[in-house]
Amino acid sequence: MKCTKCPKDAIINLRYNGLNLCRNCFVEYFEKRARVTIRNFNMIDAGDRIAVGLSGGKDSSSLLYFLKNFSEKRRTEILAITIDVGINDRDSKYGKETLKNAKEVCQRHGIEHHIYSFKDETGMTIDEIYAMFKSAKGLNISEQSGVKICSNDVAGGSKGLCTYCGVLRRDLLNKKAKELKCSKLAIAHNLEDEGQTFLMNIVRGDIEKIIWGSGLIKDEQLIPRIKPFIKSPEDEVKLYAKINFPGLNFEHICPYRKDAYRKTFKDILNLLNRRHPGSNFQIFGNNQRLRNLLLKNYKVENVRFCPICGNLCRGEICKRCELLKKIKNNRKIKSKKVKVTDLK
Ligand SMILES: [Zn+2]
Ligand SMILES: [Zn+2]
Repeated sequence: MKCTKCPKDAIINLRYNGLNLCRNCFVEYFEKRARVTIRNFNMIDAGDRIAVGLSGGKDSSSLLYFLKNFSEKRRTEILAITIDVGINDRDSKYGKETLKNAKEVCQRHGIEHHIYSFKDETGMTIDEIYAMFKSAKGLNISEQSGVKICSNDVAGGSKGLCTYCGVLRRDLLNKKAKELKCSKLAIAHNLEDEGQTFLMNIVRGDIEKIIWGSGLIKDEQLIPRIKPFIKSPEDEVKLYAKINFPGLNFEHICPYRKDAYRKTFKDILNLLNRRHPGSNFQIFGNNQRLRNLLLKNYKVENVRFCPICGNLCRGEICKRCELLKKIKNNRKIKSKKVKVTDLK
């Protein structure tokens, strides 16, 4: 298989447009699409100080590397923030390996790196939250043949561990980026992530979530988020990571990541794209079109702000405060139990 653009051997075939690309032409093609995405969505301005949320996985490592090179020719600054969530139970190498990757990526490329502990900020690691809620039966977690399963219920009221981790980690990233005086927060969502989220919102009928992604409602508490890889297919991000980080292992999977609901959408979209290459790009385009149509009829006064922290929210309090409250209450129950046994 020869490269469509030069005489070299191709390393990838893009089924959605028929291109065969060699290593160099692929990197050029991949980076150009991300640059065009940044320009089309006005993601970056001159003088921006951009924090990249770096988990140490393939997506965020690739995004950091890309933005580092991107910023060298422009008047922008890049730094990385890693939240160490504390996932080390059951001999899982996930926590240690991803943290090691994150440090390695920053060291190799001379990038300012800030690491914060999830436990220092919320009072518990993810392992501890899992153990606590499992014993209190307050979390929708089941155990099957030794595999940890964290499932979100279909009606959309997700009570799973992934929700705790996701919401609180996003909140921490925002808080730390603010403390570090950053003007933007870059998140490594790829084309598939966007498609899954969009379809999930459609099935749940969560119109507000579709609209909120547009940035129409200015939330003073939130640093503007940018997603330069929203038009980059996952397998291309994977290849880009493999090319740029030889020797790093990105294969470790979070031991809790069995989010049944999202996984279903991932499987559906994968099947759709195998049979009809390019469907993910169509879904992306139609997401934007639908959002623009909805915006015309949306009343901004529907928006509420959390009375505790001031974040944008829809319930009485925001998801972050709701989760922190649950953690606090469960710790109280636990400490009471300990006192009873102490008396004996
Ligand atoms: Zn080529
Ligand atoms: Zn709140």
